[in-house]
Amino acid sequence: MAAQQLGNNFRGKRVVVMGLGRFGGGVGVARWLTQQGAGVTVTDQERLEKLESSIAQLADFPITFQLGGHDPNILNSCDLLVVNPAVDKSRSEFFQAALHKHIAITTEINIFLEHCRAKIIGVTGSVGKSTTTAMIHLAITAALKNSLSRQTCWLGGNIGHSLLGDLAEINSDDFVVLELSSFMLEDLPWIRFSPHIAVVTNLAGNHLDRHGTLENYAAAKQNILRFQHADDLAILNGDDPTVRMWATLTSGRAMEYRLENQEEIKLAVPGLHNQSNARAALAVLQAVGLAAQTPAALAALAEFPGLPHRLELVHTSAAGAQWFNDSKATTPEAAITALAALEKNTFICIVGGYDKHADMAELCRQLAHRAGAVLGIGATGPALVAGSIAAGASRDYAMYVETLESAVTCAKNWIGHRTSGAKKLNAVLLSPGCASYDQFANYEQRGEIFATLARQ
Ligand code: ADP
Repeated sequence: MAAQQLGNNFRGKRVVVMGLGRFGGGVGVARWLTQQGAGVTVTDQERLEKLESSIAQLADFPITFQLGGHDPNILNSCDLLVVNPAVDKSRSEFFQAALHKHIAITTEINIFLEHCRAKIIGVTGSVGKSTTTAMIHLAITAALKNSLSRQTCWLGGNIGHSLLGDLAEINSDDFVVLELSSFMLEDLPWIRFSPHIAVVTNLAGNHLDRHGTLENYAAAKQNILRFQHADDLAILNGDDPTVRMWATLTSGRAMEYRLENQEEIKLAVPGLHNQSNARAALAVLQAVGLAAQTPAALAALAEFPGLPHRLELVHTSAAGAQWFNDSKATTPEAAITALAALEKNTFICIVGGYDKHADMAELCRQLAHRAGAVLGIGATGPALVAGSIAAGASRDYAMYVETLESAVTCAKNWIGHRTSGAKKLNAVLLSPGCASYDQFANYEQRGEIFATLARQ
């Protein structure tokens, strides 16, 4: 998809920001463009009520809002369209109308990448992006601090923070670690840019409702490597059979990180997947010339409590039952990872949610194999429960209960039960394997409601 670029001068330009969202990107770009002297109109399909917190952050700026839909008339006086990564461009009439009118098009992350002078470390993958991004940032920050360096390591992108507002303070010898989603990467060809250091954690089908096929999804991810130069570096997970083949896509160097034959890294966060994420962070540390500071980085990683909603222990009952919030597990692969991290047959797993048409067969097998009990919720819940029973889960302890509230009530009743041949149930895991949009505003809300219900 071709997009004309407008150059770097936004003064006096009429800009439409399509999609304000709640993750900081829309707010960041609307603010920054206003400060650059552009006249900004924000349009969003959601109504005011759903966007209140984002709109409040723009209260002091002279921005026009057009909410509850996208009125194509605003394109009649528009020099630049900034499209949110969440917009499904091929299906959006508004976006297609802008293309048709040959309006210049860009994104918040593309503007940042075009203006940032520092070394960019981009992180992508189907799962583990946020955790790996946070670990890289933590490791580099600890290393810089320990070496009394004046350089700064900045954190942004899909992890939920726009760095546009920090551009003026980011120096050319600083580091910027960006989590990059497939939706963000989809638009990198518009600026023919890939990060100087690109980290890829793994690849499994995700967001196929938007990308259509696994090939399209992989092609979007591969943009993180496609425009690298000779002195750039690809850091690939050598344990992922697909990702390790991507070394040929970069014009720079490629290196792998692996778990095999490596000593265990001392971490507060559980599971082999986190060992892998920490290996990626150490590989980046080496790549940026800070290998000598590895002990300081390891000390920081050992203290890392993990990110909220990712296998987070949110409650321990008086009787010792543990409640884990893994609401961020929005793909079957992420849920399978959580199932592997807890002791087999001792936990009740709550699964199901919005249907992204992902393949759930392996998740059903793992639920039958590892969970002592299964509670299905949301759109995909009935199929997950039926699939688990077909894969061998006990009919007495696999049930579709529709809502999270009913699931928690049922789980409270089942705690302490011994299921057929299994151990005593003493933990509850919310690891839905699906997105939340069928019943919740987002995964954070789902996780918070779960934590609240668990504690009641
Ligand atoms: P993302 O940002 O890609 O969605 P997160 O770091 O937020 O990934 O982790 C989401 C979930 O994915 C975690 O709760 C964990 O269960 C799982 N996960 C994290 N890292 C990995 C990994 N390297 N491989 C497989 N699964 C992982």
